[in-house]
Amino acid sequence: MEKINIRKDDTVLVISGNDKGKKGKVLRIFRKTNKAIIEGVNMVKKHKKARKQNEQSGIMSMESPINISNLMLVCPKCNEASRVSHTQYEGRGIRVCKKCGEMIVR
Ligand SMILES: [Zn+2]
Repeated sequence: MEKINIRKDDTVLVISGNDKGKKGKVLRIFRKTNKAIIEGVNMVKKHKKARKQNEQSGIMSMESPINISNLMLVCPKCNEASRVSHTQYEGRGIRVCKKCGEMIVR
């Protein structure tokens, strides 16, 4: 199984599919299915019916999950989509940007 290098609140770049080239923030990760929800990416329209009086019915846009293999982490330091390596720092697993060598600490 591929190791998931992406964590919640990371910024990622979409590297394939309809939204190729878009960047967004990781809102949710589904480890079991290797998918993630990215802000503003893979938007689908859903029809919504008002069930309560103060709800609006109509068409809503919302994010649907995308395969993590279609995503690449954007390094917060150099702002480039980058592969990462892993290192240990003070007993924690830390990701390191392969482009600029900075540790990506979260
Ligand atoms: Zn970097």
